[in-house]
Amino acid sequence: SDGYMDSMQPGAPLINGALLQRRMDIELYLRHAIMKKEFNLVYQPVVDISTNCVVGLECLLRWDNDNVGYVPPSEFIAIAEESGLIHEIGEWVLREACRQNRKWQLAGLPPMFVAVNLSRKQFNDCRLSGTIAAILEETGLEPKYLELEITESLSVEARLAADTLGKLKELGLRIAMDDFGTGYSSLGYLRDLPMDKIKIDQSFIKGLQHGQVNAIIVSTMLTMAKQLNLAVVAEGVETEEELQVLREYGCCFVQGYYYSKPVEVRHIEEMLYQLA
Ligand code: C2E
Ligand code: CA
Ligand code: CA
Ligand code: CA
Repeated sequence: SDGYMDSMQPGAPLINGALLQRRMDIELYLRHAIMKKEFNLVYQPVVDISTNCVVGLECLLRWDNDNVGYVPPSEFIAIAEESGLIHEIGEWVLREACRQNRKWQLAGLPPMFVAVNLSRKQFNDCRLSGTIAAILEETGLEPKYLELEITESLSVEARLAADTLGKLKELGLRIAMDDFGTGYSSLGYLRDLPMDKIKIDQSFIKGLQHGQVNAIIVSTMLTMAKQLNLAVVAEGVETEEELQVLREYGCCFVQGYYYSKPVEVRHIEEMLYQLA
């Protein structure tokens, strides 16, 4: 939930002045961040655990500003959404990720998909599929190498969401449901929307070898995904023990610190050249 709005509910204490100031500063500097080239994408490998090959890369946005310092996406994305800046920022991320992936392919690296996080507001924008079609055209990236990650908290009617997803899928790209299992309507989304993949939320992976409940949930998700013909990525895999359990349950793809943190372009390039 949104801490800022929570504190404005009746009976809650007055909002902390310093916090409000920070929020206003972030919004102010966020406004010029693209022009000032303050954004950067880092990439985290998605690995096929049977071959140890990198099959894809999730791009994650980073922002460093001289005045407010480094601000994590968990903080600034919400502010970008509320201020409407997310459209411009999201488009920058999409273009940059597609451009970069095409560049790697032209350099002769093995082709991989790039996964881009979409915010709810972007998803609700009726121009989205047009924008993405234009970006694919402009960068020359084949649509099958682009994956869009959406979360379950899409605040749109299922029918509208299905229309939007239908248009996106007509372009030939893939849709992954991010943070799977954390929303209250995950299964309803799976039933109603044309998904290609689920990404099991990291909270289910943490200490998987110890927790009976997580183990049951994860193995059930894997069985269900298989029957629904959905690909699965386990997120937040940090240890050999977690990986071992996932292997036993037949999970094929993982992402997490065990293999690699999200890294800068030049490091990803080194990693990919070594694998190529
Ligand atoms: P997410 O999409 O669920 O991304 C995964 C987050 O988990 C990333 O945090 C990543 O650094 C972190 N992570 C990956 N592996 C591990 C692990 O093994 N252990 C732990 N503890 N963490 C791991 P990050 O980069 O701080 O991003 C946080 C969230 O911000 C993302 O969650 C995503 O929802 C959002 N975000 C990031 N970039 C973008 C973007 O370009 N657009 C939008 N709309 N949202 C973004
Ligand atoms: Ca994601
Ligand atoms: Ca996630
Ligand atoms: Ca998340």
